[in-house]
Amino acid sequence: MGLFDTFIDEDSTCPNCKAKVSDWQTKDLDNLMERWKKGDFVQYRKLEIITEEERKQKYPDDKFAPLRRTKQFVSNIPLMSYGKIPVDTSCDDCEAWLEAYAIIQGGRFSGIVKIDVDGKDRDLVLIRSEKSAKELREEFEERLSSLQMSCNHEESKWQILPLSEGPFIGKMRVCVRCEKTLETISGFDEHEKYEIDPNDPFFHPVPRRKTETGKKRKGRARQSRMSDHDKTLYGRP
Ligand SMILES: [Zn+2]
Ligand SMILES: [Zn+2]
Repeated sequence: MGLFDTFIDEDSTCPNCKAKVSDWQTKDLDNLMERWKKGDFVQYRKLEIITEEERKQKYPDDKFAPLRRTKQFVSNIPLMSYGKIPVDTSCDDCEAWLEAYAIIQGGRFSGIVKIDVDGKDRDLVLIRSEKSAKELREEFEERLSSLQMSCNHEESKWQILPLSEGPFIGKMRVCVRCEKTLETISGFDEHEKYEIDPNDPFFHPVPRRKTETGKKRKGRARQSRMSDHDKTLYGRP
């Protein structure tokens, strides 16, 4: 069966005779006879079956009640966020075979470009966009902040302060559920054990030097002096 989907661009013209060519077909998607106009969200719409009564009124010659498209999409994620979908058509005026691309930007159909007469079949092009990655991050941050606002922060744990947080040593109490930082304290207790986030890009474990047993003790003494120095610098809770 020759099923396809259609992109409609009223502004596209035939390069051969300059006639208007608005309907462009593609077989690269799911071929459900969907039609997208410029600016439309590129996703299929949910279908509904019309009632027998309505069928008799509007489609008296159809034996089966036709399906009707609703305004609801089957998903709020577009079929493609950024990319080019190969489309083709033939010009009604000069009968030239035309190949082109339907451009998708931000999940919406933005128009037909690169129209060739008797051009070669084109491949589907997916564009990995900086903008889409940025949009995803913004959406994640929005969701996280709404989670943090609705959370009662009932359970929390102490973690060592990520070095990315600032140029001081300390610890922070974070909510187990929403990961919001509830309090931070500069300086930390050597007797306590803290979780260190190994994914903290600013965290670099200091490589241990292989030393002789005698020198090892000396090294430790120096280390403890260093932490005294830190204590005077950053203070204690
Ligand atoms: Zn033409
Ligand atoms: Zn919380």
